[in-house]
Amino acid sequence: MTRAQWQIISGRQANLGEGFSVTRLVPTAHRRMIGAWCFLDHAAADFDAGHGMQVGPHPHMGLQTFTWMVEGEILHRDSLGVEQLIRPGQVNLMTSGRGITHSEESPHQAGGRLHVAQLWIALPDAHRHTEPAFHHYAELPMHQEAGIRATVLVGKAWELAAPTQVYSPLVAIHIKFLETASLSVPLRTDFEHGIMQLNGEVTVDDQSLQRDQLMYSDKGADSLKITGVAGSQCLLIGGEPFNEPILMWWNFVGRTAEDIQQAAADWTAGRRFPEVPHSTLARLQAPDLTGVHLKPRSPLAQSIR
Ligand code: MN
Repeated sequence: MTRAQWQIISGRQANLGEGFSVTRLVPTAHRRMIGAWCFLDHAAADFDAGHGMQVGPHPHMGLQTFTWMVEGEILHRDSLGVEQLIRPGQVNLMTSGRGITHSEESPHQAGGRLHVAQLWIALPDAHRHTEPAFHHYAELPMHQEAGIRATVLVGKAWELAAPTQVYSPLVAIHIKFLETASLSVPLRTDFEHGIMQLNGEVTVDDQSLQRDQLMYSDKGADSLKITGVAGSQCLLIGGEPFNEPILMWWNFVGRTAEDIQQAAADWTAGRRFPEVPHSTLARLQAPDLTGVHLKPRSPLAQSIR
């Protein structure tokens, strides 16, 4: 049995406007990617009537967006004409391919609680110009042991395979402790892994996992032991190290500065990224690229900034 060597990475607060703040755990200065996972935001907030998430139509390119709801609901609309409400325990997976537009909003006027993990998956070069697509996965395979429910969101574990359609070797597992308990999680030795706490009190291989932190482990480990007090939840992600340097800017993943400049120009000019039917929210504007130095970054580099 080979245990992981865990490295603690602190997330940072990012403000999404209207007082809505999230913890960004990927990318950070110390870790740009975990497998093809290139972005991880954790948001947990109570909101008043008329507020909550109100993200108007915006474009994506070269990635998949992956949404896991812990509490609350989000209404997704996209330029394929899909309108999908996501609820706790479900996954929304949007494949932008060469270009898609979507909006995300809290569906209720009454206020409530929103607790969500939003991730992006970089598409490998062979798939980054693929047709856009959207999938909603209402039911996912579950591994149950005394006091524990582990849901396989992406990839395989315990001989269970998630139906989620991804384009590189990846895994994601949600672990919920119904009672105070410990769980041994099988790991692929050719994967690197990250684990984050969604709530409660969790220890991983006897190290305490704090809120707003990510524990990262390089390839080589074949299992981890996780202990949680009743009610705790966490999210494990992993994948084969992504060996293509990517260039991530705003909502786009490309390879060159030209990819990004072209996508931004296409969005601003109303090309490539179609409108979202029935959205009542204002279309987001691309940030100004003037003076921005766009340089591809290797996911393997430990320190980039
Ligand atoms: Mn988006």
